[in-house]
Amino acid sequence: MSEPKQRILTGIRPTGALHLGHYVGALENWVRLQDQYECYFLIADYQALGDHFDDIERIRKSVLDVTLDWLAVGLDPNKAVFEVQSAVPQHAELHMLLSMVMPLGWIDRNPTLKTEMQKLEDENKTLSLGFYNYPASQVADILLPKAHLVPVGEDQRPHIEMTRDLVKRFHHMFQVEVFPEPDILVGRVGRLVGIDGQAKMSKSLDNCIYLSDDEKSVTEKVRRMYTDPTRLRATDPGHVEGNPCFVYHDAFNPDTAEVEDLKARYREGKVGDVEVKRILAAKLNAFLDPIRERRAQYAARMDDVRDILEAGSGRGRTIAEATMAEVRSAMRLTYTEKAG
Ligand code: ATP
Ligand code: MG
Repeated sequence: MSEPKQRILTGIRPTGALHLGHYVGALENWVRLQDQYECYFLIADYQALGDHFDDIERIRKSVLDVTLDWLAVGLDPNKAVFEVQSAVPQHAELHMLLSMVMPLGWIDRNPTLKTEMQKLEDENKTLSLGFYNYPASQVADILLPKAHLVPVGEDQRPHIEMTRDLVKRFHHMFQVEVFPEPDILVGRVGRLVGIDGQAKMSKSLDNCIYLSDDEKSVTEKVRRMYTDPTRLRATDPGHVEGNPCFVYHDAFNPDTAEVEDLKARYREGKVGDVEVKRILAAKLNAFLDPIRERRAQYAARMDDVRDILEAGSGRGRTIAEATMAEVRSAMRLTYTEKAG
């Protein structure tokens, strides 16, 4: 008999539609791995509530947008489990139990959380206990289906390290092995820059090209895209490194000879931003065209899309309940069990 497949758990917060950063940082790997692994793709709505508790409508819309984007890029609900976090409430139970075991210092030291909290503070947003605690909820998400591998963008690395540390701590404390120590797998571009040149394309930073953007918006966003700030005229020698236009060419223009030629001419001041951007917009639109087409096909069948989430969440609950039985037993929360 063949070995059972190893498992993947990964997810996205339903705080908006998906963008090019999600694609190169995460989704592309998910599509590739869905045949090799038993995959659990989580729409983390509990986690989204942490900083969007005042915008439930946005979460509701985004749950469906994310699902459409997943289907559009080629994730297949016949191969992988698409699940909604709140429809598998064992996520909340495991989060609560693990938060008893996790030292507060781990949360305070998490660099990704620090950056995100700073941003909320700068925007004068209320920082909720739930948001502060979200790295622990992510640990629980990963451990609930006993994932071996977590394909995510670079910003998630501290959360996966925390998960590995928690597995060791849990096993040591309760003297029973329940979870694998999961590995991280970062995508081809671990952190795609925003169109405004900020380090990360992010829904919260409003600097995204969305997978669902139409041709005109993509062209317009590329036209506004940040380039080399030191270059004033097309005849000035320009910088290619760190120039978002070329980062995107490298990531999405499959014609590498064309990209190398553009870079060489840019460095010599022999091609202008307008031309570099015109070609980039065309390549991005060619990349997005089949994604848009598949998205439109699924968007015409929203009831089927809802059914996919319902069925996936059901499968998620079965796996989750099996793990929870082991966790409750490891922690000896079994007071009424009769001696056999
Ligand atoms: P938010 O701003 O609401 O946090 P986000 O754009 O960061 O949204 P998430 O749902 O937090 O999106 O992230 C989902 C996955 O996509 C994670 O694995 C994350 O690492 C990855 N990801 C998000 N943005 C990028 C990016 N710009 N480059 C590479 N990977 C990314
Ligand atoms: Mg994020």
